[in-house]
Amino acid sequence: MLAPLTKPRVANADLHCHSTISDGLLAPAEVVRRAHANGVDLLALTDHDEIGGLAEARAAAAELGLRFIDGVEISISWGDDSTVHIVGLAIDPDNAELVTGLAQVRSGRDERAVRMAAELDKVGIHGAYEGALRFVGNPALVSRSHFARHIVAAGHAADVKTVFDHWLAKGKPGYVIHSWASLSQALAWIHGAGGVAVLAHPSRYRLGNQELRKLLVEFRDLGGEGIEVLSGSHGDDEVREIARYAREFGFLASRASDFHGPGESRIDLGKLPQLPDDLRPIWEKF
Ligand code: AMP
Ligand code: MN
Ligand code: MN
Ligand code: MN
Repeated sequence: MLAPLTKPRVANADLHCHSTISDGLLAPAEVVRRAHANGVDLLALTDHDEIGGLAEARAAAAELGLRFIDGVEISISWGDDSTVHIVGLAIDPDNAELVTGLAQVRSGRDERAVRMAAELDKVGIHGAYEGALRFVGNPALVSRSHFARHIVAAGHAADVKTVFDHWLAKGKPGYVIHSWASLSQALAWIHGAGGVAVLAHPSRYRLGNQELRKLLVEFRDLGGEGIEVLSGSHGDDEVREIARYAREFGFLASRASDFHGPGESRIDLGKLPQLPDDLRPIWEKF
């Protein structure tokens, strides 16, 4: 008798990382090779608002026999003035509404960058727009990370983290309010493209308990499936807190380094602890 077909067990999933297609430092194929070398056996590339790296990453993964999931990290505006990130996994990158929606989200970035540069100019950081563009791999996507790299290279700060703390984080002089997609748009695009939606790094938004709950309720009511319990942005206490929310709301749990590049990320690809045993991993879906 034939043995029942079982999916290969996933030992080391990493379902959130970036390439030069958005604000990562490595090309898509390099991200895949590094993940493989680090022992990752299920990888999703999730560039910000952009799916242009998926074909290259998928081909590189196939060459190595690494299971690969098409992903994206969508920027949304939520509540009074929070920016929240929604990861879409196992999306169809050819889905027309998704492709159009993401192009629309990206299209505001250049004008935002000009406003950021104008604010930075007022506090003595001149020429930041042109400077940031020198660090951009994909002309359609200029991000705060590119500004941060330029500001470090120009000698204003020792590292990217310092730049965010002084100039680019919410409330700092180079931070400007921007209108991204809405939560419901992001979920509609992801679901319309056959994917599952995961709330990225819930602890990063510094929402109070009540606000975070409100976000989780809205996300669940719109059909959001998962939340990142393990994230490069989460400390141990945050992992425990978000795990409790996953249990309470019945969310599937994701494991997500949010790797951007060597030297810039706290956690390398695949170098995360295991999910708490009682949580259901989001990759059950794939
Ligand atoms: P943007 O989409 O242009 O607003 O850029 C957001 C990106 O900036 C995030 O995805 C991170 O890569 C980076 N970022 C945000 N906050 C920080 C921080 N405090 N330290 C380092 N990088 C950060
Ligand atoms: Mn980023
Ligand atoms: Mn993010
Ligand atoms: Mn990310």
